[in-house]
Amino acid sequence: MSRFLSGLYKSLEEYTPGEQPRDKKYIKLNTNESPFCPSEAVVRAINRAAVEDLRLYSDPESKELKEALAERYGVAFENVYVANGSDDILSFAFMAFGRDGAVYPEISYGFYSVFANLYGIVPCEIPLERDFSIDYKKYCNTGKFTVIANPNAPTGIALPLWQIEEIVKSNPENVVLIDEAYVDFGGESALPLIEKYDNLLVVRTFSKSRSMAGARLGFAFASREIIADLEKLKYSTNPYNINRLTQKAGVAALSEDEYYMENCRKIAENRAFATEELVKLGFEATDSKANFIFVRSDKISGGELYTRLREKGILIRHFSKPAIADYNRITVGSREEMEALIEAVKKIMEEKL
Ligand SMILES: *Cc1c(COP(=O)(O)O)cnc(C)c1O
Repeated sequence: MSRFLSGLYKSLEEYTPGEQPRDKKYIKLNTNESPFCPSEAVVRAINRAAVEDLRLYSDPESKELKEALAERYGVAFENVYVANGSDDILSFAFMAFGRDGAVYPEISYGFYSVFANLYGIVPCEIPLERDFSIDYKKYCNTGKFTVIANPNAPTGIALPLWQIEEIVKSNPENVVLIDEAYVDFGGESALPLIEKYDNLLVVRTFSKSRSMAGARLGFAFASREIIADLEKLKYSTNPYNINRLTQKAGVAALSEDEYYMENCRKIAENRAFATEELVKLGFEATDSKANFIFVRSDKISGGELYTRLREKGILIRHFSKPAIADYNRITVGSREEMEALIEAVKKIMEEKL
C-alpha cells in the first residue's frame, strides 16, 4: 500500500477471484466457466473487419445488442441494460441503491460484501438456514436495498418465483436485485415480474450459460426508471464500457441461442450424473440448480479434497469461511471432465482407506 491511498480504501477487502493458474493444464472446475466454446456465429463475427474497426469507439448505447436482448426476452428496449460483466452492474446497483444499507445472505456471492464495503454501505448479512436454504420471509419488509442470487452461490439452491415475488412486493420503497447468473441451468427467472413491480432489478450474464466469461458481458432488466439510473452512473464513469468485439459477440450469440440453451440442458444432465456418482462415494450434495455442485463428505475435509484433486490436475473451489469449510464447489463441465473427476475422487478415497 502506498502512503497516497485514500483513507477510505485502506481497509478495503477485495474480492478474491478463483485461481487461473498457468503452471500446467488443469481440468478447470473452479470458476463456473462453460466447457463449451462460443457458437460459430460468434467466431465468424470476430473477423478482420471487426478488429480493424477497433480504431473507433464502441457504441455507448450498445443499440444492436440491447435490441437483440429485448427481442430474445420479449421486453422493451428501455427495460434493458448492458455492462462490462454483471459485476459492473452489481457495482452500479450498490452505488445507486444501497445508501440506506444492503441486505443479502451471509453465504452468497463474495462480491456483495466487497461492494458494500467499497461504497460505505452498512451491510446486513442474513445467515442461511441450517440446510443452506434461504428463508424468504427474512427478506420481506427489509426497508433496504435487498440482493439475492437465485440460484444462490455457492450452494446452488434456488427459490421459487412466488417467494421472490413476496420479497419484491413487500419492499416497494427499495430496489430488490435478483442476481440470475445461474438461472439458465434450472432456476425460475423473475423477469416476468418487471412489468408488475418498478423496484425489481434482474441481473444476468453471458459468462456462464453463454460461454463468454472472457468477453465480459452482463445484462439486466428492470423498469425504465431503474435502467435510466444505471445508465446515468455508466455515463458518469465510462460510457464505452463494452468494447466493440464484445458487443458483436453478444449479438452473434443471441442469433444462435438454441445452441446455448441445449448446452445448459447437457450441463443439467452432467450435474445429475456427477451428483449421483459422488453420492455413491459417500458425499452429500445440496439440490443445485446451477452449473456447479456443492458437496461434502465425512471421510475427507473440504481442504484436503481440494489439495488432493489439485495434485491430480483437477481444480475445484474451496472456501475458507467456517460455515462452508467442509464443502467444495465443483463446476459441472463436460461428461468427460465429470468422469475424470469421479475417477480421481474414487482414487483419493481408496488411498485414504
Ligand atoms: C459469476 C457470477 C457473477 C459475475 O459474472 P460476470 O458477468 O462474469 O461479472 C455475478 N453473480 C454471481 C452470483 C456469479 O456467480
